Amino acid sequence: MPNQKPEPTLPPTADAPSEKIKGQPQLLRGMKDILPADQPYWDAVASIVDKTATGAGFARIETPVLEAASLFTRSVGQETDIVEKEMYVFVDKSGDRVALRPELTAAAARAYLEHGMISWPQPVKLWYLGPFFRHDRPQAGRFRQFWQFGLEVLGDGHPVIDAMLIYLAVSIYRTLNVPVEVQINSLGDRACRPGYVRQLTDYFKTRKHQLCEDCKRRLQRNPLRIFDCKVTDCYTISQDAPQIVDHLCEACKDHFVHTLEYLGELEVSYTLNPRIVRGLDYYTRTVFEIVEEGGSEASTQSALCGGGRYDDLLEQLGSRQVPAAGLAGGVERLIIKMHERQFAPTVVSPDLFLAQLGEPGRKKCLKLYDVLRSMGVKVVEAFSKDGLKPQLEVANRLGVKYALIIGQKEIMDDTVLIRDMENGIQEVVDFKKVVPEVQKRLAKSTTNGQPTPAPGP
Ligand code: AMP
Repeated sequence: MPNQKPEPTLPPTADAPSEKIKGQPQLLRGMKDILPADQPYWDAVASIVDKTATGAGFARIETPVLEAASLFTRSVGQETDIVEKEMYVFVDKSGDRVALRPELTAAAARAYLEHGMISWPQPVKLWYLGPFFRHDRPQAGRFRQFWQFGLEVLGDGHPVIDAMLIYLAVSIYRTLNVPVEVQINSLGDRACRPGYVRQLTDYFKTRKHQLCEDCKRRLQRNPLRIFDCKVTDCYTISQDAPQIVDHLCEACKDHFVHTLEYLGELEVSYTLNPRIVRGLDYYTRTVFEIVEEGGSEASTQSALCGGGRYDDLLEQLGSRQVPAAGLAGGVERLIIKMHERQFAPTVVSPDLFLAQLGEPGRKKCLKLYDVLRSMGVKVVEAFSKDGLKPQLEVANRLGVKYALIIGQKEIMDDTVLIRDMENGIQEVVDFKKVVPEVQKRLAKSTTNGQPTPAPGP
């Protein structure tokens, strides 16, 4: 009776209960460990983002997690929640005021200027994946350290760039089995936005007494942000507020119409949402958020991805005007959705297990281990264990296809026992022939083999 091949198992996830020892060190609030069982999901995201971005001509950039705090105050904006309330800022040992990066666009713009990318062929297309930090109130899907993937296109103001960015993000979500919808708006530019903001201010001023305290402040500093407020009264009042799409100048209107047309050509459906204003100062023209299909209206917690055009940002940092656009997607929120949608990432099992009995067997296995590893075979072992049973238990748990066993008899005969872990059939092979035999078997099983789905969370 052939043995059933067990599913490879991974250690428990972050949520498995464990016994707490009094006084043991604990995670900081809002932080999260990414445990081995989570890794297949992270690998799947990283691989799809890499394939999508690289395949579309984007090159990877990684910037330091620490930047001068002024980079973000000058770009994201001093008055924004991200900078004013959420940024981790401190004075380092040299007396410099530094910040843990809350986002990457500003750093990409800094790097673009600092490394002379302005003189490279334009546009410069960059992608990234890394951790970001915001000292916000932690809750489901909101962490203080979280990961984002992102795309930035610098040096091109054409609306087709806006549409292509959205299209690429949507295709990342689709590939990962998370259906999404796009909510889009235009914020105009410095020609048309000030006039609109004046009208908006006049509108909210007449209803100021009904606004919450936060929105009363927003009215002074950035009335557009009132659209972000979740307080019922503020939400209701903002429903009837003038909408920016009715106040765009000809150039911005043309840009917006073309962006939407290109999205249509790319078969990306979208909803116009005048409430999408994004919480950052640097946006101009197109702004968008991507939410789960059928999910609630885009809000700070439910958005999977957000982005837009930032044509004035590089000028704010001291350059000439360089049009640019980008987006960022949250990895943790995406993985939550992948779990909900039962996405099964593939787990690559090791190829071989080396089992030994007795000291001479252990030493011979060590040699063979080195040979097989240098040939690129994924070989695992439990060399510190003595009995065969506990070793084969490990082999089973890891889901290997074959175990090579060297015990006292094999040492005497200069042979190796090859055990097929799926059906339990064992075969004696001459030690000198074991490498070609292993290669032959593995080549065969790769041609027949199917990727193994990861065990549940
Ligand atoms: P934002 O730059 O705020 O638009 O963020 C882009 C994306 O990053 C959001 O749509 C979320 O998916 C994710 N994100 C932003 N802040 C957090 C956070 N505190 N925790 C987890 N994910 C976040």
